Amino acid sequence: MAKKRGRKKPSPRETPEERKARLRKILIAKRDEILKEAKEEIGKFIRGENKELVETALDDGDWSVADLAEDLNLRKLTAHKERLNRIDEALRKLEDGTYGICEDCGAEISEERLKLIPFAIYCVECLEHREKLEEMEREF
Ligand SMILES: [Zn+2]
Repeated sequence: MAKKRGRKKPSPRETPEERKARLRKILIAKRDEILKEAKEEIGKFIRGENKELVETALDDGDWSVADLAEDLNLRKLTAHKERLNRIDEALRKLEDGTYGICEDCGAEISEERLKLIPFAIYCVECLEHREKLEEMEREF
């Protein structure tokens, strides 16, 4: 079991509203970054009209077109899509007030961790536990 360390809150005077606004900004910036990456991937494979079509669809969050592009050998987009889905989920949670709460144990995920992975849904302990389980599954 991990011990609770005395960690400083980054800014003790931050109100919940300010925290929410700050986190939302981080998530949206991350989202834009991933969209940009996805578009670059597409640019490598598709040119002309189709490229624009897929790029516009991505902006609208319409992945059906992007999935079509995936058939054209864009497997990498799946990873982008998954990350975007997780960010959307995090944004939704932020609105619900459940952001930063571990889905497994309900503990608060540390700010340090959220800074690294703004769309983390598990605390470090639960994630390690899950990774171990996955490793075990692979061995069998
Ligand atoms: Zn947990």
